[in-house]
Amino acid sequence: MSVGTGAKSRFDAIREITSRTPRKFDPPRDDSGKRLRISQFYGMNTFDLNKMREKLPKEVFNKIRQTIETGNKLDNDIANTVALAIKEWALERGVTHFCHWFQPQTGTTAEKHDAFVSFDDNNQVIEKFSGAQLIQSEPDASSFPSGGMRTTFEARGYTAWDPSSPVFIMESASSKTLCIPSVFISYHGDSLDEKTALLRSMEVLSNKACELLHMIGDTKVKRILPTLGVEQEYFLIDRAFYHLRPDLVMTGRTLVGGQPPKGQQLEDHYFGSIPARVQAFMVEMEYELYKLGVPVKTRHNEVAPSQFETAPIFEEANIATDHNQLVMEVIKKVSLRHNFMALLHEKPFAGVNGSGKHNNWSMMIAASGSDIDGDNLLEPGKTPQQNLRFLLVLSAVLKGVHKHAGLLRAGIASSGNDHRLGANEAPPAIISVFLGDLLSRILNEIEKGSGADKNVERAVINLGISKLPEVMRDNTDRNRTSPFAFTGNKFEFRAVGSSASTAFPITLVNAAVADGFTMITETLKKKMKTAGGLDAAIFETVKEAVQETKAIRFEGNNYSEEWVKEADKRGLPNLRKTPEALAKIVDKTSQEMLTRLGVFTEAESASRFHVRLERYLKNMIIEVETLRSTVDTIVLPACYAYHGMLATSVSAAKSAGATAPQQEILNKISTLIGTLQTKRTALESAYHKAESMSSEEAKAKAFAAEVATAMAELRGTCDELEAIVSDDYWPLPKYREMLFIS
Ligand code: ADP
Ligand code: MG
Repeated sequence: MSVGTGAKSRFDAIREITSRTPRKFDPPRDDSGKRLRISQFYGMNTFDLNKMREKLPKEVFNKIRQTIETGNKLDNDIANTVALAIKEWALERGVTHFCHWFQPQTGTTAEKHDAFVSFDDNNQVIEKFSGAQLIQSEPDASSFPSGGMRTTFEARGYTAWDPSSPVFIMESASSKTLCIPSVFISYHGDSLDEKTALLRSMEVLSNKACELLHMIGDTKVKRILPTLGVEQEYFLIDRAFYHLRPDLVMTGRTLVGGQPPKGQQLEDHYFGSIPARVQAFMVEMEYELYKLGVPVKTRHNEVAPSQFETAPIFEEANIATDHNQLVMEVIKKVSLRHNFMALLHEKPFAGVNGSGKHNNWSMMIAASGSDIDGDNLLEPGKTPQQNLRFLLVLSAVLKGVHKHAGLLRAGIASSGNDHRLGANEAPPAIISVFLGDLLSRILNEIEKGSGADKNVERAVINLGISKLPEVMRDNTDRNRTSPFAFTGNKFEFRAVGSSASTAFPITLVNAAVADGFTMITETLKKKMKTAGGLDAAIFETVKEAVQETKAIRFEGNNYSEEWVKEADKRGLPNLRKTPEALAKIVDKTSQEMLTRLGVFTEAESASRFHVRLERYLKNMIIEVETLRSTVDTIVLPACYAYHGMLATSVSAAKSAGATAPQQEILNKISTLIGTLQTKRTALESAYHKAESMSSEEAKAKAFAAEVATAMAELRGTCDELEAIVSDDYWPLPKYREMLFIS
């Protein structure tokens, strides 16, 4: 019998992968051959505050420091001096080009490179880089999504350096580019990017927190900075497989593919030893990040086969956001050198754990400037005073998350994350807060405590507040199913998708908590008038907040069906899919808060909504069209070929007078091919129906419901066929190969 040749490229890929010599990576050494320490190259490609201090005249350095603290624009004359120092530093390192590096609402970064070259008065070529070029640039804004913010005839937008994020040098094989982290705004000052609002939200969070802290006697506090430590999960699969999968190439996830007999059920991958080839990749990836001043700290295997994680030491939220973009970029870039393709999609493989991006978030007092060297506001302290402050801050978080749960859900909405949220492996689409056993008990006691108690201080102590410091050490009862979990001295926003920029979700967390601070401050003001003394007023305020926000607290299993019912009873929003979640950005509560706090204007919120809805639709359309062509041009032809081979063999057997037991398989395949064709038609009509809807919202909803269902149905049949079509007829690399061969 002739062997099918449909699987030739798949087998070639396996041969290539298993016979290839893996790339080694040898970290740099000094002249005597000794390996350099990380501290010897850390930050060499970034012009950070330390380098500024070293290279700039003192008064210029002080001015730029002030600028960073106040968020004002840099003076032109100062800018020229800074630009000159940056240019000298960059030229010495072989840099030829510079770019404003910014984050349009595409989730990734954008850059337009300009060479340093210019002509001097004598028409000689020189390297030039002015203060004006450092501060501002004017890319053509018309090709970036603006969600209707910008009419096409007015395509102008400009980027402006954000001095709080240091400039850095991006190296590639053939060139080095100076990148200037920037915000991107329209000619009229509307934010067109992800960063402007993040900076605004940090500002307002700081102001609102300070107002409250001043009221309770922390009058010296000038600035609060949200901090962020971003755990990044990703898959690595071999490039040879990747290129044989149009679905991965086009959409970042597998649209078809049957389950392997072994998945993650053996739990032998999590924290297991890292394969040598992956280890080489990680060392090189970390080396590149260290040079950029990104403090990556941990590396390990994740739950699913071929899934990994890297996490940095936390930094202030703005820099942490930029650094996470660099982490994603460097992961992608360096993986290629090792013949891997890094998949950052939230759900590359059905039935296998997806990837998240846990956002560890807290707030710190900036003791000086932008250094996060003061107290962590979410860390219970040693004194009763510090503990009362902790409880107030916690109340503000609870108030904010309780009131804006729907908006926070919107912040993490994307077509990729739809596959992950609520898939019984990741936090559900219902936002709730986990506090842990000890802290919950303390809050429950406070809630019950009698406000009439004369000796508030003693009451407070009796209620277990003195036990608060233990909360930090109490890491035993981590709830891994919670979307927003307190982990001793910070919250972990675990529902963010692995491919998302942290800017938007963290902007919304900052804004929601700033609103929480506003509410707590108002209550405290009132209580001060009636309660006897500050401590009593604080206590009363906390108690009220605990009562009011009870619904948002959940300590149980977030993956369970009971929780869905319970959350419904509690009135918590359960926004399962992206279109309904996104609507929260523009609802009344959100818009009122976002405009009042100056985070987004009404037009800017509307633009966020439209850009995200549009991106959702585009992603869905690309997926449908890719699935359609995969079925038509790969799956069906393979099935027909195998079907034909079986039919020939059946008739040969019969004409030889033998029985033809393969008839049974032939019949089964005939039926399945028929089903596949029917479902293929069903997808087509669901697609057309969705496309014919009059509004974008209605379209998106139809894609989220009928079209997504039709896609899943079609996939189901493909996967059934994959399980019975002869292996040497199947062209698409299989899960067992992509996840287990490297
Ligand atoms: P786990 O895997 O248990 O969640 P990791 O140690 O891998 O914990 O990640 C925790 C992340 O939280 C790290 O990036 C760490 O720097 C960060 N982190 C620690 N303290 C804070 C804080 N105060 N604010 C923000 N992030 C923090
Ligand atoms: Mg974590």
